[in-house]
Amino acid sequence: MYFIDVILPIPLEKFFTYRVSETEAEFLEPGMRVGVPFGKSKVYTALVFKVHRTPPEIYEAKEIHRILDESPIVNAFQLKHWKWMAQYYMCSLGEVFRSAVPSAFLLESETLILRNTSHEVDELALKDDEFLVFEALQHQSILKVHEVSSIVDKKNVLPVLHRLLQKKVIVLKEEMYEQYKPKLERFVKLSHAYRSEESLETLLESLTRAPQQSQVILSIFQIQGVSKKPIKTKELEKVSGASKAVIKALIEKDILEEYTIKVDRVNYEGEHEEYDVKSLNEYQQIALDDIHRNFNDKRVTLLYGVTSSGKTEVYVQLIENCIQLGKQALYLLPEIALTTQLITRLQAYFGEKVSVYHSKYNVQERIEVWNNVLAQKSKAQIVIGARSALFLPFSNVGLIIVDEEHEGSFKQFDPAPRYHARDAAIVLANLHDCNILLGSATPSIESFYNTRSGKYGLAEIKRRYGNVLMPEMELVDLKEQTRKKRMKGHFSERLLEEIQTALDEGEQVILFQNRRGYAPIVECSVCGHSPQCPNCDVSLTYHQYKKQLRCHYCGYHMALQESCQACGSSALDTKGFGTEQVEKELETLFPEAKTSRMDLDTTRGKHGYEKIITAFEQQEIDILVGTQMLTKGLDFRNVSLVGIMSADSLLNFPDYRAHERCFQLLTQVAGRAGRTKKRGKVIIQSYNPYHQILKQVTTHDYEGMFKEQMYEREQYKYPPKNRIIRITFKHKEYNRLNEAAEWFARGLRKAFGGSVLGPEYPPVARIRNQYLKNVMVKIPMGQSLSKTKSAIKRIEKSFDAVSQYRSVRVIYNVDHV
Ligand code: ADP
Ligand code: ZN
Ligand code: ZN
Repeated sequence: MYFIDVILPIPLEKFFTYRVSETEAEFLEPGMRVGVPFGKSKVYTALVFKVHRTPPEIYEAKEIHRILDESPIVNAFQLKHWKWMAQYYMCSLGEVFRSAVPSAFLLESETLILRNTSHEVDELALKDDEFLVFEALQHQSILKVHEVSSIVDKKNVLPVLHRLLQKKVIVLKEEMYEQYKPKLERFVKLSHAYRSEESLETLLESLTRAPQQSQVILSIFQIQGVSKKPIKTKELEKVSGASKAVIKALIEKDILEEYTIKVDRVNYEGEHEEYDVKSLNEYQQIALDDIHRNFNDKRVTLLYGVTSSGKTEVYVQLIENCIQLGKQALYLLPEIALTTQLITRLQAYFGEKVSVYHSKYNVQERIEVWNNVLAQKSKAQIVIGARSALFLPFSNVGLIIVDEEHEGSFKQFDPAPRYHARDAAIVLANLHDCNILLGSATPSIESFYNTRSGKYGLAEIKRRYGNVLMPEMELVDLKEQTRKKRMKGHFSERLLEEIQTALDEGEQVILFQNRRGYAPIVECSVCGHSPQCPNCDVSLTYHQYKKQLRCHYCGYHMALQESCQACGSSALDTKGFGTEQVEKELETLFPEAKTSRMDLDTTRGKHGYEKIITAFEQQEIDILVGTQMLTKGLDFRNVSLVGIMSADSLLNFPDYRAHERCFQLLTQVAGRAGRTKKRGKVIIQSYNPYHQILKQVTTHDYEGMFKEQMYEREQYKYPPKNRIIRITFKHKEYNRLNEAAEWFARGLRKAFGGSVLGPEYPPVARIRNQYLKNVMVKIPMGQSLSKTKSAIKRIEKSFDAVSQYRSVRVIYNVDHV
């Protein structure tokens, strides 16, 4: 007897075991997919983890349905990494599997059964159960496996299906498992008959009365030049200016031949210019040498280089080195920083070797990158991607770069695995024994601390490229400006002056406001009522453009009411302001300037974000208003002024990382100013201009910020001096949630005493009709993390045994909460 342990793409604690035949056992390898039955009627795509001969003890192993791969699609490195991830982030391997592979790899569609219409059936030769299925197919053209199961009243229907197949009564519809279809592109070429000079001349002469057709023929040579590369039909249409019909006519006359080629979707259109790798300046060179030295000592290395210091060029050198050795390179970036700007820049150096792995790409494109990485194709030798690129089937990685390593969006919050991509990348690098570089102008406290404690190596670039000065920073006291009546809307006099100067000199301006919409709160000035989301405990945000009130947590929206719903008064007022309001005010303050807005509302759709960036780059926009989307690694040439509309909301966030984040965010936005030649200017408006963090931002005092934050973290027992696990409880019934969270917390306190905080409501205590409560477990450095987790898991087991708590969701976030 032969068995396989498989990973099912669902939250199961353990592997599940299935029976396979001897031949199947010989064929199967870890990392191949199999279709398996599960529960009463479900069929899942599962991943083989191990082939063995030990039957499961508790249950009788079922047979697999079918084998889905001819060779593994997941390699041993991945399986190891995923196991670590499940263990570390307290989720199941199945959840990691589900999140790791492109969704088309996981089709759960059940096999469909159809009547075989090409074969005459001898009804008398059918056994009873066979006849039942046959009969059902007279009434219903398609049956699913579980339907067959209830028709014949048996769990295992494979034998009957098998017999029906042999008797040619049914066929199985199997395409369901493999949805991936390669894309075909149409190409044209000149027919063989016209390849010689003379025949071509005769042809062109014969076409003198059809100028469009002869233009098409000439365009072929124009496109081809001397290279004889294949010509896309589309491209020919474009270059010749001829319509589809003209080209079709030529094909029908056998002058042109059309053919199709399977192309990779991830190919880049258009030509790329070949760039030479830039030579580094002395500061970049010193940093590069330091990085190499640290790599030789096998150390994780942090590149701390101020904004616009030329970190990307240093990465380029490292990648070049890596691919010279024939190894794969992975370049991780936060989703939003993965812009065409950067991709184009890297493609300019590395051409076809660059693949992009991105959630905005469709399933087909992702599968292609997956397969290219798996096969170690040279076109995927360099992968740029967002956090999910970590899951690709690398087998020969030489270098991992985590750019903007401080970015909070490297953390996945939902669904599980709730991992941090930077930390998971470090583990991955360790598994592959490869180099890893973290890069940032504002390193996370954790990473910088690790360089201080000697755990990581450090390389620094303290000057901007070309010796451009760091932007000049100015704080504006909004309290004083308001008192002196110097405000116009949300703009101080200073900010207005500076915008005017910039516009006069033909320079561009970026304005940052960390809130979208028009105003976060609408309030009745008579009774104080403000409209709330019915599903969440938050006020609805006013979006003036659509005259709507919207919830930013669940998407609920309603039309703005003319009068207060509580008292009927029409004296409605707004509180606070968002990007939409800033944009509106600009239109009256600077009617001549072209303004635009970049936030979640204006960047929906595949290219929304790119369009705005391109328009700004090409100076079709003078003033760009936006949320933190603006901060991510953009390199604009002509921005001389950055205005922070209000720093206050960033300062008053109830989170131990709030000050660190505020420093990073403001420094990064500020870094968009004055990246070439002229020194940039940054104006920060705030009601708290004397706040320590703002001082540190304006004096570029990262070290000061670091020291102060480290002191606070130590005092209040937060990372990096402590570890934390946050446990969130979620349920739609308020009372049950409270009881459940309290029960769990009692168990935790028994095990860990005073290092358990809560249960407490988070700032938004109800989202999508689910109440939330958090418990925080702080783990001192000396205490074993894995033992702590096992203890928590044990408490969860007894928790789940309490019937009224079973429906309460328990969610773990480790390290990053
Ligand atoms: P960072 O990523 O550190 O913010 P970038 O890599 O975007 O900085 O570099 C800032 C600007 O300086 C870019 O426009 C880049 O092309 C230019 N630059 C950086 N290094 C060099 C170099 N060695 N030679 C020429 N230009 C450079
Ligand atoms: Zn009212
Ligand atoms: Zn809501």
